[in-house]
Amino acid sequence: MKTKVLLLGALSATMGVGCSSYAKTEQKETKPNIIYIMSDDHAYQAISAYGHGLNQTPNIDRIANEGVVFTNSFVTNSICAPSRAVMLTGKFSHMNGQTDNVRRFDGSQQTYPKLLQQAGYQTALVGKWHLKSDPTGFDFWSVHYDQGDYYNPDFKEMGKRTHYEGYSPNIVCDNGLNWLDKRDISKPFALLLHFKAPHRNWMPDTTRLNMYEDINFPIPATYWDNYEGRTSAACEQEMSIYKDMMIEWDLKMEGEGSEKGHTNLMKKLARMKPEERKKWDEFYARIKADFKQKNLSGKKLAMWKYQRYMRDYLKVVDAVDYNVGRVLDYLENNGLAENTIIVYTSDQGFYLGEHGWFDKRFMYEQSLRTPLLMRYPAKVKGGQKVDGMVQNIDYAPTFLDYAGVAIPEDIQGESLKPILEGSAQKVRDAIFYQYFEYPGPHAVKRHFGIRTERYKLIHFYHDVDAWELYDLKADPEEMNNLYNNAKYKATVDELKTELIELRAKYRDTDSGNKRILEEDKIALKKRLAHQAKAQMQTQK
Ligand code: CA
Repeated sequence: MKTKVLLLGALSATMGVGCSSYAKTEQKETKPNIIYIMSDDHAYQAISAYGHGLNQTPNIDRIANEGVVFTNSFVTNSICAPSRAVMLTGKFSHMNGQTDNVRRFDGSQQTYPKLLQQAGYQTALVGKWHLKSDPTGFDFWSVHYDQGDYYNPDFKEMGKRTHYEGYSPNIVCDNGLNWLDKRDISKPFALLLHFKAPHRNWMPDTTRLNMYEDINFPIPATYWDNYEGRTSAACEQEMSIYKDMMIEWDLKMEGEGSEKGHTNLMKKLARMKPEERKKWDEFYARIKADFKQKNLSGKKLAMWKYQRYMRDYLKVVDAVDYNVGRVLDYLENNGLAENTIIVYTSDQGFYLGEHGWFDKRFMYEQSLRTPLLMRYPAKVKGGQKVDGMVQNIDYAPTFLDYAGVAIPEDIQGESLKPILEGSAQKVRDAIFYQYFEYPGPHAVKRHFGIRTERYKLIHFYHDVDAWELYDLKADPEEMNNLYNNAKYKATVDELKTELIELRAKYRDTDSGNKRILEEDKIALKKRLAHQAKAQMQTQK
């Protein structure tokens, strides 16, 4: 780092200008840098800039205060690997091929990091990847294996297994900043910093174990939802905090849960250093003693699980926020803040107890939405709120647009530059959504649908044929399915027409769906074989 600061100083001296005017001269002539921070399963409800009051995220909020917060930001397919592929390609899942978490990403296809690289950018990816194939389009990459580990994780770094000591979000941030230190400062850069946090099973850093322990979080209004009036998809999911959240794997009550949960938790705890394990055991032993003594069931157990979930989840979120602060400080300390586009997002939203759930997948609001905040002081006015509907297909064209790279015709998203710079309020009137991973974990049925500013129409298919309609203005919690209400027949017809138009626009044809269904039969066989093998190992 020292070399770079000296070099900047020397250049400024030669040009006879101070540091700040040098930075201003530089941005006119050079392309913007890009830092794209993405966490995993970070609900917008757990970012204070979104105003839900659950927790404080002062560093992520700095991006909002000095930049733009998107209040209507959505994904196209609410699950990890597909979302990542959508963002890399700017294309829907049926076009980039990554329809679910089972498939392997085809890294030979066009992605925005490759296009930036060709345009002279230095590119790096650190953190979670989850696309199975090795990353392409990056000068440097260091990624978690699959979901990765919170404690003392191994990374696949430029093809080699590399062990790191410490807590995942801190390590990912260190790796990103170290790469920035070593980069060639004559070129613009794009750094993708992808935290595995706060993904399940929400293992807090030992330094944060006591956070939120004296807080009782408000139970969401829809926590006791019985899904009346909704279709079988909402009733038959397996993502209930009460029924499906595992007492040992998810909530760390060692020895109290199933054998599978126990085995999985033990594997994670075995990675800890003795001093980490000691602090962990001391903390959770107290919680466990209290839990056993209370001997809860029914509603009381459901409420206890919710509080434990929220506390662990938000402790992990705090580690992400802390590291976002480190990135922002780095940019400021190195004169890079002005000319760097910084983005904070998640691969999708997440349920924090709404409808009684955790996890994602559904086209309902909490998982359809994802946080999105951007800051680019050189070109974008701070303190803005954007209400226009944006989607994660838009990130790739936005980055390319700002980098001065022609946006390829086959990219399906829209550049957000006009919105960011105030020449437009929106880039679309409706969004299209699709979800494919069924049968699969959490048993959320396949569906697709359309959301306008006011309405949402969802079609569940595959082993069902069911529709749901919501009036988001009258019923923002999506408790009242209006699909069979005669008063809304004209609305349904109109939305169905719009849905057909959107599917045609995005080339989501029935023949394409048939191909995916055929491929799924093969994928399903593999998945079941894998599950059977895993079960046998657990029994051993
Ligand atoms: Ca995720």
